[in-house]
Amino acid sequence: MKILVINAGSSSLKYQLFDMDTGEVIAKGLCEKIGIDGAITHKRPGREDYHAEVTFRDHDDAIALVLKLLTDKDLGVISDLSEIDAIGNRVAHGGEKLRRSMLVGDEEIQYLYSIVGINPLHGPPAIKGIEACRRQMPGKPLACVFDTSYYATLPDYAYIYPLPYEYYEKYLIRRYGFHGTSHRYVTGRVSELCGRPLEELKVITCHLGNGSSITATKYGKAVDTSMGFTPQEGLPMGTRSGSVDPTVIPYIARMEGLTPDETDKMLNGKSGLLGISGVSSDCREVRAAAEAGNDRARLALDVLVYDIKKLIGSYIAAMNGVDVLVFTAGIGENDRDLRRRVCAEMDFFGIAIDEAVNENAPRGKEVDISAPGSRVRTFVIPTDEEYMIALDTMKLVTK
Ligand code: AMP
Repeated sequence: MKILVINAGSSSLKYQLFDMDTGEVIAKGLCEKIGIDGAITHKRPGREDYHAEVTFRDHDDAIALVLKLLTDKDLGVISDLSEIDAIGNRVAHGGEKLRRSMLVGDEEIQYLYSIVGINPLHGPPAIKGIEACRRQMPGKPLACVFDTSYYATLPDYAYIYPLPYEYYEKYLIRRYGFHGTSHRYVTGRVSELCGRPLEELKVITCHLGNGSSITATKYGKAVDTSMGFTPQEGLPMGTRSGSVDPTVIPYIARMEGLTPDETDKMLNGKSGLLGISGVSSDCREVRAAAEAGNDRARLALDVLVYDIKKLIGSYIAAMNGVDVLVFTAGIGENDRDLRRRVCAEMDFFGIAIDEAVNENAPRGKEVDISAPGSRVRTFVIPTDEEYMIALDTMKLVTK
């Protein structure tokens, strides 16, 4: 069975074609600068990459070229589109109604339109991607996998904000949580790596990348997560502030004469690692600057490490313990020093890592970095959201 996974952003579209019989990616690529001008990079394992500057007026143009390349005599990997059994779309937000991966039609797409207001950045491009797929491959089973659906199990006291309740009723203001597909994937791997069912485990997963979130999963159910109504809450990120005293926000807006949109841009685009360090949103560059003696870059990393520790501690309290701690995504998978610092002086909780194993952990591999005999097992697990989407899609079409 072959599944095409689509992840559409505002001006980009990523794709991966999976052969689910082997679990392998047989082609993948990236369409960029959609609606601006355009470029495509098309990759097939073991063969030379193809890159072309093209014109993408919209997501339809991008999907059309992807399908053309996949079936191309020289650059393709399949001879006909009928070989694609189904399409899986990544959708960040499913609102309060779309709470599991599902095959979608008019009704679900209409609902996605109705919640664009609470998901203005990621909603419209995701819908454009879905609609382009429907137009280019009519009748093909089309699944949506929502980042938010992993959090359908959050108890109400973990998702309601202490604001006037009417805002929840009127505007659906609540914690939704994001990165759910990644947290679900790595949590699933924990069960295999530990050889124990998730129903017996308390797991904390740290997805630390350009966007970062931490999720607590107790006995197989997500019980809390750090991102909230939007992916802005929680940890400091590349350019996003994460949590701050809410009153600071209107105060800065008043002092600087910022409109709500400008304030949003400041919180989303100029804060986090970039905001504190003034150097970069990229953790590698911030680290390099810190090592070269830049004190604000040092401070940005210190704030990040401290906030990760505090969240882990709070989820240990929320679950009355932890069995497994996981690091994933760009920073979590690669930044050994950050992992070492997060796990330092956590012995009260039973967390201890083997510093040599952590230091030498090969990139892109699942590694158990726990110290011998430590009560909590700590893993580095590369995330694979696209595979999870393909797997969900396959399950939906074979059900
Ligand atoms: P992601 O959003 O998962 O692609 O992660 C992107 C983030 O991972 C960026 O901040 C990168 O700087 C960071 N990253 C990638 N490789 C490394 C590395 N070797 N050390 C530290 N950070 C890294």
